[in-house]
Order: sequence, then structure tokens, then C-alpha cells
Amino acid sequence: MTIRDGRYGSLRRSTVEVRVADARIGGTNPILVQSMTTTLTKDVEATVAQTVQLARAGCELVRITTPTQADAACLEEIVRKVRAQGVKVPLCADIHFQPAAAFEAVKWVEKVRVNPGNFVDAKTAYGFRKDFDDATYDRGLQKIDDKFRPLVRMARERGAALRIGTNHGSLSDRILARWGDTPEGMVVSALEYLSVCEDEGFDQVVFSMKASNPKVVIQCYRLLVDRLDAGGHKPYPIHLGVTEAGEGRDGRIKSAVGIGSLLLDGIGDTVRVSLTEDPVEEVPVARELVAACQRPFGPGRPLDFRERDLSPEGPAEAVDPTSYLRRSTMPVRLGDADAGLSQPIRVGADASIPPPSKDRPVEWTDGDGSDLSPFPLSGSVAPSGLDAAIRAGRLCELRLADLAGLEAIRALPPSNLYLFSVDQDLGPWGVRRAVAAFEQAGLRPPLVLRWRLDGSEADQLRMAATLGGLLCDGYGDLLCLESPSGNPVDLAYDLLQSAGARRSKAEFVSCPSCGRTLFDLVSTSARIREKTGHLKDVAIAIMGCIVNGPGEMADADFGYVGGTPGAVNLYVGRDCVRRAVPEAEAPDALVALIREHGRWTEP
Ligand code: SF4
Repeated sequence: MTIRDGRYGSLRRSTVEVRVADARIGGTNPILVQSMTTTLTKDVEATVAQTVQLARAGCELVRITTPTQADAACLEEIVRKVRAQGVKVPLCADIHFQPAAAFEAVKWVEKVRVNPGNFVDAKTAYGFRKDFDDATYDRGLQKIDDKFRPLVRMARERGAALRIGTNHGSLSDRILARWGDTPEGMVVSALEYLSVCEDEGFDQVVFSMKASNPKVVIQCYRLLVDRLDAGGHKPYPIHLGVTEAGEGRDGRIKSAVGIGSLLLDGIGDTVRVSLTEDPVEEVPVARELVAACQRPFGPGRPLDFRERDLSPEGPAEAVDPTSYLRRSTMPVRLGDADAGLSQPIRVGADASIPPPSKDRPVEWTDGDGSDLSPFPLSGSVAPSGLDAAIRAGRLCELRLADLAGLEAIRALPPSNLYLFSVDQDLGPWGVRRAVAAFEQAGLRPPLVLRWRLDGSEADQLRMAATLGGLLCDGYGDLLCLESPSGNPVDLAYDLLQSAGARRSKAEFVSCPSCGRTLFDLVSTSARIREKTGHLKDVAIAIMGCIVNGPGEMADADFGYVGGTPGAVNLYVGRDCVRRAVPEAEAPDALVALIREHGRWTEP
């Protein structure tokens, strides 16, 4: 299948089966849930304890960071002690910068992850410059061959799997110079490593394309799958993840937008939800997200979209799934708000819902007091009463209740007074089909994204995957959530922020922590949020180490990064402006820095 086959009636991409000890990734196997330890790897007892804890929480593969060869050597004892407790969970070593650590790790664990951005081709290798000539570029390729080929051979001999794990923000200078920090660059970087595997006839390979921005995540994974198909490569399995998703509800929603929307596309064979929390907390979220995105296809069995009634046929889709462009729609005025293209995505609610804050207003009301006249679209004729409503100059919301309603779109009288919505059970596929049908009919009505939550965590994840994925595709002009508990307006603004569609509070990017982390991320993150959470228009990254932190801060305005034990480096954008600030003083120093740069507002 191609990625376009999953747009109107999602079909799970069939993939090569990769063996990781007794576990299987890809093929027809259920989607595997994994997580990562946060202990110091050299603290063998702590790493064993956390690995066992993760496995007992339902984690099906545990990744352990191995920054050095000495850490990798500890894996021998870790594996022995984990197995001695009767725990068979497969283990993966996480490698950056150190091929020697990979050669050691592959002796002991069943899977090794390498980051193509820094395995041999680090940022400092050539000093950043934009005029990479072909000879220098090719020398980089030769280095990959020299260092990665032996690892592929060792993996093959030992029956281990490899993950080619690319991260946005940690691409090598060589790739950056030629491709920029782009989805294209990430895919090219990964495929360079794949070519060595394929040259060795080795297909036990899993790919990941992570970023902290779900929009980037979605584009990168789709582009990778597209390139694998177009290049005649085998359909290797895909590991899905959103890096630095943060914590609490924001972290869960952001993960659901990036990971869940791809699962709904039929892409993904294993997932890791990265939260700035105890890693054991990641496991139920990942399991629930996978289950929530599988539900329409039958519980307890692998995704099989072929049984869906949404056939892949239909008029061509207006958007390119590998790049973002907001769908062009007709402007409308609803209540006091203008909506449609060039306007922010407007948040509506039932008239009884109080706005959570002045920065998160209710911009239009639904139900009683609304300017909208709802008309169900089901069947092949235009709804009765529609003509009269249009003649009276009323805005009409056409609600697509089922797929038969697609036929009714052709029978609609021309008007610029339409909006439309699609029943949530029709998923993103129904929305895409409806948009294409409207375009074919020469109509560009704004889309109202609606969801009735049932109050469960699983339904919230499914909502975020479906509506967040649509927002990341450029679909949606108005948003209205209904919920039996909590404030649905607050949740709507959180969803818009996670999908990069509209910012209404400070944005926090925080790494999940690992064996490299130099301070307590959970408590530090809470302190920084307490001091800066009221800032509306600032993005702050909180990263545990300078090895990967600065590269992976994405587009944060300010960075708080572990420099050395007990000391923090502060960044403005990608520039380090304060080094070795004592940890106790660092949160206040960050506030001072934000003030200096004119970005502070009083709470
Ligand atoms: S930024 Fe550093 S500490 Fe945080 S997860 Fe990445 S490698 Fe680990």
C-alpha cells in the first residue's frame, strides 16, 4: 500500500516481521508497546529494578541508554540479572556518538538503536558550514560505511535487530548543509544507513522519525513510508514516537496527536510515549492509545482496515499528506468571530460552559443561542428546509451523519452560508472524503471539528488522535468539544496548542530523561512551570543534558539544559548565553533571561 491508500479507508501497512528475542515487531503482530529506563546504566541494580518494573507494567521492550562503551559493558550483568528474575522482556541499547558502545552492546541485547545524525557524523565533525562540496559529503558516506557496516554484520550474526532512529534537531551538519532541518533531511539521513543494511542483505530493521512537534512527526513518518515504497525498499516496520512531549495532560495529548494520527493512517508497528514522568507511567498511556486507535477495527486483533466500509475510492484529496498547508475555506462570521482561512481556529461551546480564562475565550456558542442552523446530511437529496434557511440568510451547518450523506453533497444548492461537520464515528477518513466531495461540488465551506467525549481517558486520546491529526493536515476552522466532566473549552485549547494550530499558553518542551540526565526533570519542570506557566507566548525547553538537549529543543525560545552535575546552561534559541549556573539559582536566572529579552509579563 502507499500512504494515499490510508486516506479514505485506512489500511494497516503490512511490514516485514522483525524478531527481537521472543517479541515480534511488524508483520501481522499486534503493535508493541515500549519504554526506556531513566536510571544511570552503570547503576546496574537500579537499571535492573526499573527494567523489571517496566516489564511487569506491560512494557514489551525496554530501551536502556548506553552513552559509553563502559555503560554498554554493564548490559551483560543487567541482562543476566533481569533474566534471573524470570523476566524475558527484550532489551534495546540506545546509542549516540559512540560506535564502540554499539559494538559492545550488540553482544548482550537483542536490539540496538543508532541515531544516524550522530553515530559517525556528528555536528562537530566538520564545523558547520553551508558549502559542503560533493567530496566532503561523500567522505561522510564512507564513514557510515566504515563504522556502521561492522555493526550490521554483528547484528546479523547474533540475531539482533537494529533501529535506525532519526531525530529532528539532531541531524548531522552534512545533512543539514544539504537538506536543512527538514523532513526530507531526516528521511535522507535514515536511508543512507538503510543502504548499508540492504547491501548486507539485512532486513531486521525498524525506523523511527521523531520530533517534538507532532506536525513534523506526521510529515516525516509519511514521507519515509512514501520514500520506502517509491524506492522499492522492503516495507520495514515503523517505531512511532513524539520526543519531549512533556508531562500530564499536555504530554498525553501531544503524543496522541503525533502517534495516534499515524496509527489511524495505518502506519506504526511499535510505539513509545515519552513523558517527563516516571517511565512506568508511559506504559498504560501507550497501551490505551494503541487500543483507542484500533477500536474501530475490532478489539483484540491487529488492525485490518480492509473490512472498513470506507473504500479508498473517491475524488482526489486536496492536501498533500507529506506537507502542511491549511485547507483554503470560505470566510464566515459566527457570533462575534470571523472564521475560516486566515482566521485562528475558533473555539465554541455550549452556552452554559464558562470560559476557563481570558486567554481562552468561548468564541461562539453551540445549541441554543447559536447562529447556526443544523441540517443532517444522510441520503442522496439535500435536506428539506435548507433552501428556506439560505433565503433567510442563515448559516447552515451540514452534519454528515453517514457515508450516504456524501451523495447529498452533490444535490446541495450553491451557497456561501454553509459550514459542515462529520460524525466522529466516521473518523478522519470520513472528513477527508467529505472535503473532497465538497471540493468536487465547487464548495469550500469551513469545517467544524466536533467530538462528544465519554469522559474516559481512552476517548480523550482517540479524540486527540483524530481531531489533532486533522488539524496537523490543515483541516478544521472551528472546534467544539462536549464533555461530561472537566472544562471542554480548556481541553479544546490544549488540543489546538498540541497540534501547533493555535497557542494560548506557554509551550513547554521537556525531555523524558534517561541515564544522561543531570537533574531531576520532574521536579525541575514543575518549578519552571510554576514560575513561567502564565506566559502566553513563550516556548521553553527543559532538557536533561547538553549531549542531545540543545539539538532537540526544537524551536523553543529559551532553553534550560543540564550542563554538568549541579549546573545548568541557559539558551536563547540555539545560543548558549549562560553557562554553569548553579542548579538552585537556575530557574530564577531563566526568569531574568526572559525579562531581559522583553518576553516577560506579570501573572
Ligand atoms: S536530552 Fe539528554 S537527558 Fe534528556 S532524554 Fe535526551 S539524552 Fe537523555
